[in-house]
Amino acid sequence: MEIVTTVSEMLGKRKALQESVGLVPTMGYLHEGHLSLVRHARRENQHVVVSIFVNPTQFGPSEDFQRYPRDMERDLSLLEREQVDTIYAPTAEQMYPPGYQTWVEVEKVTVPLEGQFRPGHFRGVATVVAKLFNAVRPARAYFGRKDAQQLAVIRRMVTDLNMGPEVVACPTVREADGLALSSRNSYLNEEERVAATVLYRALKHGQEMWRQGERAPKTVAEAAREMILAEPLATIDYVSVCDPETFQELEEARDRALVALAVRIGRTRLIDNTLLGEEAI
Ligand code: AMP
Repeated sequence: MEIVTTVSEMLGKRKALQESVGLVPTMGYLHEGHLSLVRHARRENQHVVVSIFVNPTQFGPSEDFQRYPRDMERDLSLLEREQVDTIYAPTAEQMYPPGYQTWVEVEKVTVPLEGQFRPGHFRGVATVVAKLFNAVRPARAYFGRKDAQQLAVIRRMVTDLNMGPEVVACPTVREADGLALSSRNSYLNEEERVAATVLYRALKHGQEMWRQGERAPKTVAEAAREMILAEPLATIDYVSVCDPETFQELEEARDRALVALAVRIGRTRLIDNTLLGEEAI
């Protein structure tokens, strides 16, 4: 396993590679969710690159960039076990040197939900992923459905800018009690960890209502919201029953819908989602 820390080294390495390359972009502090993406990439590509970069430009000024968990040594040993070929771990100075001034703005799909609560977030995400794609030029790139809106933003960018990679969506990996794995779960204390299951419980409740024939988006959203409000440690950023492609809140009954949640448990902001009527969680 080779560790590459500069852009020029990555470009040079890629030039010398003839094989099909799969890329898994991450911010490190890896868990089984990340590793499921890596395994997916390992099955489908001759050469697997995992990027580890806590991207400062996707964090707002009052967000957790400084305290975001990091453990490069542990990450490397996990990735070694998965037989990853290359780790691309550039520094922020490499990615955004003095004079940097180019950004990728995806429009409509970045406006609702995460876009409302994290202004500038998707501009940072789209830009860093475009830069990773340019340096690694993967045949395929792997993203988790846990970040459903991010996945849609990347797909839009790839289509609109005629980028090469096939975007592969991977299912959300959960703890035994349903909590979606996230590097930010490490912020939770014992009591908060228990309370955090409310996201999954609310999604399950929504699915159950749907299964029983409820189709009014507002009714499903309201029930999920009430369930979360009953959890004293939880505060809601949003609970949305929305279109799975545009993320626009649904006004009327539809065949396909996504329930998307952002909830703070204490100071920790967690997101989760599920499709209604498909893939039981
Ligand atoms: P992050 O390190 O949080 O930027 O995540 C890197 C990639 O892993 C993104 O494509 C995420 O959607 C994906 N990911 C994060 N958590 C999970 C999970 N629990 N299950 C599946 N994929 C995940």
